[in-house]
Amino acid sequence: MELLEKRIQSDGIVKKGSVLKVDNFLNHQMDIALFNEMGKEFKRLFKDRPINKILTIEASGIGIACVAAQYFQAPVVFAKKAQSINIDGDVYSTRIESFTHKRVYDVMVSKKYLRPEDHILILDDFLANGCAVNGLIELIESAGATVEGIGIAIEKGWQIGGKTLREKGYQVESLAIVERMDEQTGEIFFRN
Ligand code: 5GP
Repeated sequence: MELLEKRIQSDGIVKKGSVLKVDNFLNHQMDIALFNEMGKEFKRLFKDRPINKILTIEASGIGIACVAAQYFQAPVVFAKKAQSINIDGDVYSTRIESFTHKRVYDVMVSKKYLRPEDHILILDDFLANGCAVNGLIELIESAGATVEGIGIAIEKGWQIGGKTLREKGYQVESLAIVERMDEQTGEIFFRN
């Protein structure tokens, strides 16, 4: 998506350790006009899928998912990060390793909001090694629901998440795929 690539090119900051910082339009300050165009594009890419719910993970996925949801006329559920989980039977839970914070989170969704009859689109801001998305898939599978697709704002193409998920047969649509970043010069290169 050209609009997003241009924005990453102008405002993205390449950090050490393969981290791309996009705080001024996506991860801290949010550009809602841009999110709106991203939402339209997700709808176009998944228009043939019978999606009735969007699942994301707090915090950065929520804004993107909420704006996109208006085009799907579907509710958004976000997996909550918890310090520790009371396994009282009312939640589906799993553990997700955070790429940016280098720690493991318990995440959970109430059983009320993931049902076997749900057809779910997963949305998130970044795809790197795929830990976040795989955790969300696990929650969906625990509920007996169906994964219809995975929509990502920015995929880092050299990390294994996208490749692994596509090999498993999931429809993964990333609006921008960064092929390479140069930590020295700050240059960002996109996959065509
Ligand atoms: P994964 O779980 O695929 O390894 O990493 C994806 C998650 O880590 C996303 O939810 C995102 O919050 C965070 N993340 C991974 N790489 C980056 C990055 O380069 N920049 C930012 N801002 N977040 C990232």
